[in-house]
Amino acid sequence: MEITSVCPYCGKEMRDGAIPVLRDIYWCPRGEDGMLKDGFGDEKEQVCLGRAGLLGDYYTPARYCESCKVVIVPVPEIEWPLDKLDKKFTAWQEETGKRPVGGLTMKFVLATQNPKKLKEMSAILGELGVEVVSEADIGVKIEVEETGETFAENSLLKAKAVMEATKLPAIADDSGLCVDALNGGPGVYSARFGGEGLDDTGRYRLLLQMLHGQADRRAHFHTTITCAFPNGDVLQDDGEVEGTIAFAPMGENGFGYDPVFFVPDKRKTFAQLTAEEKAEISHRGKALRAFKETLKNYLAEHQ
Ligand code: IMP
Repeated sequence: MEITSVCPYCGKEMRDGAIPVLRDIYWCPRGEDGMLKDGFGDEKEQVCLGRAGLLGDYYTPARYCESCKVVIVPVPEIEWPLDKLDKKFTAWQEETGKRPVGGLTMKFVLATQNPKKLKEMSAILGELGVEVVSEADIGVKIEVEETGETFAENSLLKAKAVMEATKLPAIADDSGLCVDALNGGPGVYSARFGGEGLDDTGRYRLLLQMLHGQADRRAHFHTTITCAFPNGDVLQDDGEVEGTIAFAPMGENGFGYDPVFFVPDKRKTFAQLTAEEKAEISHRGKALRAFKETLKNYLAEHQ
């Protein structure tokens, strides 16, 4: 299998080099030489990529794209002289069954602390041959203030912050419930609706109270998924599902506002659907499937 030294993100030639093997390392370039940090954010030591002399006990071959500021370590944790790298990489691919993109397996970070979201995203994007890891997997935890006024702005804020910290393409999503009689609220404030003191049940009870006596019960859920690449490219997709706000909670499944979100076609609330039934029609399911197509096309163009 042929591997190239072309950057999978921008298509430019990458420089050969080496980086020290540390636990949870990620690359944080600063100027010409760059600085390596460990998973806890401590600055370790400067390295200069492109010097063969760096190969040794604690170093692994790597390729560095100057324009995207990204380092690719094709054979993690294995020391190997650069001239044998291609063979070793082929063996590694055969062993792991990973498909190279532009000659290299592409890794994405999902901006979430939620293991369920990681599982869902990995299952869908795994079909494209890409690997999705969580922030925790690579030793970062990025707190982002969701100051945007739209789902698109907030998911872009999250994706960019994680991409900048990790130098890997990062995916983030932002969702919420939009109620017509509340002028689209709680919208981007869905998770914070009613203030810190409320849990999911408190929030949907507050919603039912605010809609007391209101005949217009129309509402929809919205999700925006954003992927930010180190070369500045951004992919974004949305998904929506229409429904109404029930007069009382029904069902035990799901989370958040599910017990009060009624889907007329199904004659059930989201909380009365199984996870599979919900994923087929939900905002998140739709956004994820749209994003998969967008990413597939993007990768095909950049191979
Ligand atoms: P997130 O951006 O996916 O974390 O969603 C923000 C908030 O929107 C959640 O904390 C929930 O209150 C609400 N929400 C988003 N998606 C759903 C859903 O599928 N069911 C119920 N509530 C949801």
